[in-house]
Amino acid sequence: TDSTTLTVERHVPADLPDRILHYIGGESVPSLDGDTFGVLDPVSNEVYVEAAAGKKADIERAVEAARTAFTEGPWPRMLPRERSRILHRIADVVESRDARLAELESFDTGLPITQALGQARRAAENFRFFADLIVAQADDTYKVPGRQINYVNRKPIGVAGLITPWNTPFMLESWKLGPALATGNTVVLKPAEFTPLSASLWPEIFEEAGLPAGVFNLVNGMGEDAGDALVKHPDVPLISFTGESSTGQLIFGNAAPYLKGLSMELGGKSPAVVFADADIEAAVDATIFGVFSLNGERCTAGSRILVQRDVYDEFVERYATQAKRVRVGLPHDPATEVGALVHPEHFEKVMSYVELGKSEGRLVAGGGRPAGHETGNFVEPTVFADVAPDARIFQEEIFGPVVAITPFDTDEEALALANNTKYGLAAYIWTNDLKRAHNFSQSVEAGMVWLNSNNVRDLRTPFGGVKASGLGHEGGYRSIDFYTDQQSVHITL
Ligand code: NAD
Repeated sequence: TDSTTLTVERHVPADLPDRILHYIGGESVPSLDGDTFGVLDPVSNEVYVEAAAGKKADIERAVEAARTAFTEGPWPRMLPRERSRILHRIADVVESRDARLAELESFDTGLPITQALGQARRAAENFRFFADLIVAQADDTYKVPGRQINYVNRKPIGVAGLITPWNTPFMLESWKLGPALATGNTVVLKPAEFTPLSASLWPEIFEEAGLPAGVFNLVNGMGEDAGDALVKHPDVPLISFTGESSTGQLIFGNAAPYLKGLSMELGGKSPAVVFADADIEAAVDATIFGVFSLNGERCTAGSRILVQRDVYDEFVERYATQAKRVRVGLPHDPATEVGALVHPEHFEKVMSYVELGKSEGRLVAGGGRPAGHETGNFVEPTVFADVAPDARIFQEEIFGPVVAITPFDTDEEALALANNTKYGLAAYIWTNDLKRAHNFSQSVEAGMVWLNSNNVRDLRTPFGGVKASGLGHEGGYRSIDFYTDQQSVHITL
């Protein structure tokens, strides 16, 4: 396929915006200095739209609007039920536009269209979940009989700064917007600069649902400009960040002088541990999906597979065979299972790990560009076996369709290998031995464990990582805790 035919095959959504702006105090506005940046689609790698490049002055305007909405507007003072109704309406609007959202997201990120649709629906569910949670919220009361009654007031904190990555942009934005808004805060969102398209739909969605102006504000731009200014703004007491561990460290330092509340969802290199007594077929299916879905651009990807020696050769062979069957294709094609990686810079990074892997492990599937995709950010599902734990492809987050497989003999060795990275986001364990499964879960250094299971979320459970994978957990009431201040009131009897 030459680039000309590829351009013909490429699906460009109808009615793309002719520019992407900020949204501040209920108005769509360009940057004060008029600066813009070009946004690429990952199939052609051509600029398809210019987006407003926010700077400190734009962040100041947005924070000002959000502050006014917080101090003077109705939002923080509304009854939970009233905010909940608006959040449910937001979910309704998102659902009614799921196909359009998926089309735009898939075009902008390169995610397979079927998976982008799933992410759009999950975004709606995030709003519904927090809409329900906030009306069911019970506030704590403590009694010391005859002496004291003590109770807890929950209060929204103020302007929440939300900074999000490009891998599933719309869904990850909703995971922060849902609880931040449900609890009565106002927000400034700084979405990832690689993928600003789906976020440009929020203003219309929120207006249609009846969210008061100024409650939601959006500033596009680079992390080091707009993101940095948000982190360093003295009137933004909370920062919820999802992105790379190294960026998280930088933000942590930058926020320190302001003593901000921080929630950090960072990188991962999660192990999938397959014991010899496991259902091997189910383990192969799930571990294929676990690293190749969402193009491998998934924080909880099971990107290291540890397999007990007795079944190692069989597992590697079945895994390689199945990896070769994963369909790489154009993002908008419903048959596609792996689309195009988000950006040429990220593509180069992933490809450099593919090349490195050839000296660090035994290549058993993939290893380059798929045939027929000579342009665009396409990478074959790539599998390296016999990878030693000190290899860089074992230790470092690749964030693409690349997996390392390593053998082990004993439970102790499996645990040591599983814990042998700086990360600790998720772990997947495959065994039919009940005691082993629970004991291994207890010992593994991971914020989330799935036993004999795909990555299926229950939104009530804690979400987050340990070690370099993050700080603080969101999910369920933990999100409510992060976005509210809990004030205790003491009454002497
Ligand atoms: P990134 O850290 O490069 O960027 C994330 C966001 O931070 C972007 O909006 C960016 O503009 C902004 N940013 C960059 N520098 C900044 C600065 N100095 N100050 C303020 N903001 C700044 O991450 P990415 O490449 O967009 O996303 C991929 C990473 O995100 C991976 O490491 C992945 O594991 C992680 N991730 C984690 C989770 C999770 O829940 N744990 C979920 C999805 C992605």
